[in-house]
Amino acid sequence: MSVASTQTAAEGFKSRFGGVPEGVWSAPGRVNLIGEHTDYNEGFVLPFAIDRRTFAAVSLRADSIARVASSFTEQVIEISVADVSNQTVSGWSAYPLGVAWALIQAGSNAQGFDLFVDSNVPVGSGLSSSAALESSVAIALNELWGAGLHKSQLAKIGQRAENEIVGAPTGIMDQTASLFGVTDHAVFLDCRTLHSEAIALGLKQNSLEIVVMDTNVSHRLVDGGYASRRAACESAARDLGVTSLRDVSVEDLEDAKLKLDPLVFKRLRHVVTENARVLETVKLLKKGGPLAIGGLLLASHESMRDDFEISVDELDCAVEVAIRSGAIGSRMTGGGFGGAAIALIDSSKIPELTDAVAKEFDTRGFIAPTVFSVSADAGARREI
Ligand code: ADP
Ligand code: MG
Repeated sequence: MSVASTQTAAEGFKSRFGGVPEGVWSAPGRVNLIGEHTDYNEGFVLPFAIDRRTFAAVSLRADSIARVASSFTEQVIEISVADVSNQTVSGWSAYPLGVAWALIQAGSNAQGFDLFVDSNVPVGSGLSSSAALESSVAIALNELWGAGLHKSQLAKIGQRAENEIVGAPTGIMDQTASLFGVTDHAVFLDCRTLHSEAIALGLKQNSLEIVVMDTNVSHRLVDGGYASRRAACESAARDLGVTSLRDVSVEDLEDAKLKLDPLVFKRLRHVVTENARVLETVKLLKKGGPLAIGGLLLASHESMRDDFEISVDELDCAVEVAIRSGAIGSRMTGGGFGGAAIALIDSSKIPELTDAVAKEFDTRGFIAPTVFSVSADAGARREI
């Protein structure tokens, strides 16, 4: 793991631009505990911010030039802030420059800046390095430009940057988790009202941890899968005459089955039951704590594997091994087609799990996985 910190970001800033940054802001990646492919259906999600962060060291400039750099590359991208558009920027710089663009669209006064980012959020593993990057830049520029936006508005700024400048049709979950994270809590988000509530996870009291099993299978390879699932959800909503699948209940499924194409019905059933599982998870966490939610995590995985069909062999294998190693619950997390699975497991069983996953992946000829624990951390903040 890279050792990114406030200090490494400030040092990187100094070596690329010279001098000391005006400040360093950071924002975490996230793990979605439960609630997959529900965000764009105006449903419920329950992510938490993790103890892996992106650090943005930033200074304002006297002119209107933006210069952005990252520890990932030697490149320094330079552009006049007023010229940023989806035509003029591409690649990784579209995330930070897209945030600047979205703030300007929201009425902020544009001023030039130098920005250097360093991060220890794994990229492309479904832990949302993209939202960590957007959110760290969003809170930095919000402060430096005196924009005065609240966190919920900044979440939309990050989403807009990703949708319109990067060109990825993602929901609002990742940015919300990254901005609203609370130590030892998950962020329950209603994606229709955008109301969020911190829910105590109670892991430490129960000597539990959440382990990420990154399959190292890139989810980028099958971008079409995400779009086709979204299209199936839209088609189900249209056929059922509802604005979004949020409005379909578990009780409605029997009727819906008669009306829908069998494949579209399976996609619908995942979303509807997943929303119910998120609500039930929140209820159980409030009532009895995390030991009670294992069955819901596994049911969520099975629904994604069988009904939404977004799992892959590596993810199914990680989940099976986790359960065999004594996890009380396990599921793939993130958009699917690769990325990571999580396991909720007693701390004492983690070495056994780590070993078992590595062995099973090797036996089955999969690329070696990366297994590590995460804890629920605080959201975006200024560091210095
Ligand atoms: P995920 O959000 O699951 O990690 P995405 O594909 O949504 O995967 O976002 C990853 C992209 O975000 C990277 O390919 C890169 O363009 C950009 N990115 C994330 N973190 C950084 C960083 N610290 N420096 C430069 N680019 C980054
Ligand atoms: Mg992302």
